[in-house]
Amino acid sequence: MSQLGVALLKWYDQNKRDLPWRQTSDPYQIWVSEIMLQQTRVEAVLEKYRRFIVALPRVVDLAVASEEDVLGLWQGLGYYSRARNLHKAAKQVSEQYDGVVPRDYGVFRSLSGVGEYTANAVFSIAFQEPYLAMDGNLLRVASRLFAVSENITTKSAKNHLKDLLEPYLSRTRPGDFNQALMDLASAICLPKKPRCQGCPLIWYCQAEKLSMAEALPNRSNGKAVPVVPVTIFVFYNKNGEILIRRRNDGAFLQGLWELPWVEQVPTEQVSETSPKYQIRDALTSYTFSHKQWLIQLRQCSVSQLEMDTSPEKWVDPILVEPTPNSEYQWVSVDQLGQYPMSTVFRHVFSLV
Ligand code: SF4
Repeated sequence: MSQLGVALLKWYDQNKRDLPWRQTSDPYQIWVSEIMLQQTRVEAVLEKYRRFIVALPRVVDLAVASEEDVLGLWQGLGYYSRARNLHKAAKQVSEQYDGVVPRDYGVFRSLSGVGEYTANAVFSIAFQEPYLAMDGNLLRVASRLFAVSENITTKSAKNHLKDLLEPYLSRTRPGDFNQALMDLASAICLPKKPRCQGCPLIWYCQAEKLSMAEALPNRSNGKAVPVVPVTIFVFYNKNGEILIRRRNDGAFLQGLWELPWVEQVPTEQVSETSPKYQIRDALTSYTFSHKQWLIQLRQCSVSQLEMDTSPEKWVDPILVEPTPNSEYQWVSVDQLGQYPMSTVFRHVFSLV
């Protein structure tokens, strides 16, 4: 198992919430809990769940119950279509599968109201099959663990995060792995103020390292944001220092320290074969609330001649655009933390 998985499950074993659906391995009862928990807080579900399971302990009991009784038991949970779908699915199980919850993933997934999340949660928790149950909580934790700034409401970001988290999924305890992340999300990795200092995953968390935890996840209301190609330059001198600047020109991100950047990919002014610059390109992206930067990074080693000249004289022509009133500083990597900087540049520093 991955070290991340070991740390997570160790924390879970010591801190897991005592919840009634965790005292059973009955797939039907786990299924009911997962449907109830969708869009509903755990505290609101507890009593309703107990009442429901006492009244309808088996899938066949639910199948023969009247709709009125089922909706009565669901009362207070809202989103009644969930109850109707669950009722319908119980009838399908009862009529087509002898009242036994199907062990075939595809068959279970085809039942009324069973989406990918529900199927993954039930199969991992009840059957110990290696499926990740990616709900909004897990997406939040994963976006921070891997410092992914894509908008998590998009399908591509969800798939990306799932791909990143999947290798860490415990093959022996997949259900506990999912539930551990759910507990972590509700107790530690909180939406607004994550409690990173008490987090068992702090050593593995990229967002914490980059001071981005509170800025993530990015959920820009699902609206498409314009993608802007940007080139960011990392100029370093023979002392290993990096050139940073502070612009006071009223432009985007002005007033903070940053690396010299330009909203385009200059090609004519900087030749990749030029002996003057050792250029290494890297591509990454960063999403702000109103736009996404598709970043090309250029690392350039600066000559003594340039070091002896004031930076705006040679930086502005490379950037194509003059940046008036800029203040430049050569700083060592150790000193970077002392300069107020937007998270996008902290993200970039992690790559160089
Ligand atoms: S270190 Fe902080 S941001 Fe990272 S997973 Fe833990 S609580 Fe979340």
